[in-house]
Amino acid sequence: MVRKHPCPECGANLEWNAKAQALKCPYCGTQVPWSEDTREELGREVAELDLAQALRNPAAGRGWGTEERYEVQCQNCRAISVFLDRKVAQRCDFCGSPSIVAHEERNDAITPQSILPFKISDGQIRDKIRQWYGSRWFAPSKLKSAALTDTLHGVYLPYWTFDAHASARWQAEAGFYYYTTETYRDASGNTQTRQVQHVRWEPAAGSLQHFFDDELVPGTVGVHPQLLRQVEPFPTTTDLKPYTPEFVRGWTVERYQVDLSKAAQLNEQDMDSQLRSLCSRQVPGDTQRNLQVQREYSGRTFKHTLVPVWLVGYTYGSKTYQIVANGYTGQIAGERPYSWMKIMFAVLAALLLILLIAPLFVQQ
Ligand SMILES: [Zn+2]
Ligand SMILES: [Zn+2]
Repeated sequence: MVRKHPCPECGANLEWNAKAQALKCPYCGTQVPWSEDTREELGREVAELDLAQALRNPAAGRGWGTEERYEVQCQNCRAISVFLDRKVAQRCDFCGSPSIVAHEERNDAITPQSILPFKISDGQIRDKIRQWYGSRWFAPSKLKSAALTDTLHGVYLPYWTFDAHASARWQAEAGFYYYTTETYRDASGNTQTRQVQHVRWEPAAGSLQHFFDDELVPGTVGVHPQLLRQVEPFPTTTDLKPYTPEFVRGWTVERYQVDLSKAAQLNEQDMDSQLRSLCSRQVPGDTQRNLQVQREYSGRTFKHTLVPVWLVGYTYGSKTYQIVANGYTGQIAGERPYSWMKIMFAVLAALLLILLIAPLFVQQ
């Protein structure tokens, strides 16, 4: 589906503006607030898609909803960036590397069903990152001024979200503690008694139903996983909007590299382990062993969802560092290099202090 959402004043394409929280024309500045009418006009809902059907028919439902599209892949961190305008990337938004090449793939990405538009503007996030960076110990001084704020990029990251209905049956051995009194002789030869714990094992079985709602699987390779975990969650159950290219134009989108079937597999493993602990909680008694779970999933659906992050990616020495901020909540997590000079001076200063102070104590 290709459609345009042109500016009512000059006819150019509108873009999402985080500060105004509205669609805005990059040429004449006209703002069009996002409303239920806009959604109805676009005729879109945040729909869940049938998983089995999508896996059977992999060519369906693809593309970004616009003809204008340009993809590049970073040769350093492998992230694939998508631009829905004529913007030409000079460096990778994720790691700052200049070695990027045009990316061609026969199939477009699966069209996102929903998007969480940016809520925190670049001005707000610059201040927050400066504060964050200022409070780091032993960071090289020159980074503070140079590397940080020039390389700030707003990027939409791909997530898969899955729903499923699960029914499970389990069998296990439930263990019940009981105690007996034993007599024994202590070291001095006196008779003593003590309580000894035993387990009585009984077979147990049961079943349960569970609905998994909006289970998330990240599709990004550009953002380091441990940083992503630190800036989660994104409120994907409440604040999503139906995807339209206007939200994304003027921003960078990462194309997912965990594809749908791989993501579905990861989701199934995750649901399996959640179900296992739900079943385990049902086993009666004080302890348990040999838990076996048979489960069946039905009505599995998915969405490809885009969520906003502000990114600073830079190379210092030979390493790549990243600062990630949640574009909706403002939560920041980051990696940064340590200045070995600063640490060395701090250690030397501490040693010097000990050398100066130590004699005072020895004399007393
Ligand atoms: Zn305009
Ligand atoms: Zn890169």
